[in-house]
Amino acid sequence: MSERTYDLIVIGAGAIGVTIAKDAAEQGLSTAIIEAGSEVGAGCSYANAGLLAPSHAHPLTGFSSVRAGLDNIANPYGPFRLVPSPENVRWIARFLLASLPREHGRAIDTQRRLSGASTAIHRTMAESGLATGFRQAGLLDVYREPATARSTIDDLHRHPLRPAFSVLNAAQLANKLPTAVGMEVGVLTTGDAHCDGYRYVRVVSERAAELGVEFHFNEPAEDLIQRNNVTTGVSTEYRDLKAEHTVVAAAEPSKRLLRPSGLHLPLINGKGYVVDLAKSSTDPDFPIGIKDEMIVATPYPDRLRLAGVMELTGSDSSVDHRRVGAMIRAGESVFSGLSSREVIETWAGLRPCVADGLPVVGRTHDPGLSVATGHGQQGLVLAPITSAIVLRQMRGQPGTPSGVDPRSISPERFRRR
Ligand SMILES: Cc1cc2nc3c(=O)[nH]c(=O)nc-3n(C[C@H](O)[C@H](O)[C@H](O)COP(=O)(O)OP(=O)(O)OC[C@H]3O[C@@H](n4cnc5c(N)ncnc54)[C@H](O)[C@@H]3O)c2cc1C
Repeated sequence: MSERTYDLIVIGAGAIGVTIAKDAAEQGLSTAIIEAGSEVGAGCSYANAGLLAPSHAHPLTGFSSVRAGLDNIANPYGPFRLVPSPENVRWIARFLLASLPREHGRAIDTQRRLSGASTAIHRTMAESGLATGFRQAGLLDVYREPATARSTIDDLHRHPLRPAFSVLNAAQLANKLPTAVGMEVGVLTTGDAHCDGYRYVRVVSERAAELGVEFHFNEPAEDLIQRNNVTTGVSTEYRDLKAEHTVVAAAEPSKRLLRPSGLHLPLINGKGYVVDLAKSSTDPDFPIGIKDEMIVATPYPDRLRLAGVMELTGSDSSVDHRRVGAMIRAGESVFSGLSSREVIETWAGLRPCVADGLPVVGRTHDPGLSVATGHGQQGLVLAPITSAIVLRQMRGQPGTPSGVDPRSISPERFRRR
């Protein structure tokens, strides 16, 4: 065992882990990150749609997801796939319970409040000089059928944060987005923002390193070290590292690390795809939600990114090129000629998805252990608020800065007695 005792060890250098490490170092804590991969963003945070969109914050649960799952059971290329297997049957049972209207309604409210508070911190981070690519350019959802747009519009009217939005008819939409042929309705949420997810992880980790955070790459955490039921560090293949406090932020593998502590997270992987295409001068400078196809197109200075697909079917993160082709064809509905653009990069990654649709964030009954994972399709937007909650609870301050009931996201909701 190395002699040094860190104030904090964070397991996992994705968007969640690096944000916690940076913020901890800013608060004067000696901090180390242990990462299985060879660099930051080795997991799901490598690529995403980059949306920081409180207006769209929504848990994975709900009848629309259940319906989409059922519709796509026999379709291997459906945008949302939830296929029962011996490994995920318990997860599905919990997911169905959490999709009941009352539970789902509470989860929506929680996600929206967290997302609103976190997007405000993203803005502050960008204003303080962190070049994450943050831009508040709004988000335009486009629909072929006015009836499909209705539920989004109703939902925005009920939203607790009262996001600003406008509804565009076909002519207004054609003016705003001339390439979107055949789309009837647009819903523009002007307060939403986006950033570059990988750039976020890089600049936040660079800032953390400047503040003295130690990064240990290629060093998977094997076990938490415990003495008298209190976590006192982490053992890796090479050594034991001591810490006053440990945060597990390792996405789906967090499940295995936490089981000996009595925490049984209902966490499975939700595979998603990213397809980066060469930029065109006709691309808009704001993201587009192509709702009928369930994909998002996000413009970056050097590329147009298509992101989408939710396959809750296992741990395989390989890229299926038929999926890639299907996404490009889907993107054609808004960007004609997309198929002839150069494909810069394709990628698939595994989102950590919790059965009740809410992340797992906060201190456990073990005073040396916190958890920060399970953010599903919203880990980028929720990284700053997650860090704020974890560090606040670590200091013994109850509650959450967002006004969300800490019990609704606490790891203790998954303790098996
Ligand atoms: C297609 C797609 C689109 C998305 N769009 C958005 C979006 O628009 N907005 C948004 O907010 N979110 C979006 N997301 C989700 C977001 O990318 C994820 O929620 C987020 O990246 C999760 O971050 P994380 O730090 O929890 O996990 P990860 O980035 O996976 O980080 C976990 C890290 O832990 C490491 N690790 C694992 N096991 C160990 C171990 N034993 N020891 C040490 N290290 C370990 C891994 O190597 C990994 O680097 C999207 C995701 C996808 C796939």
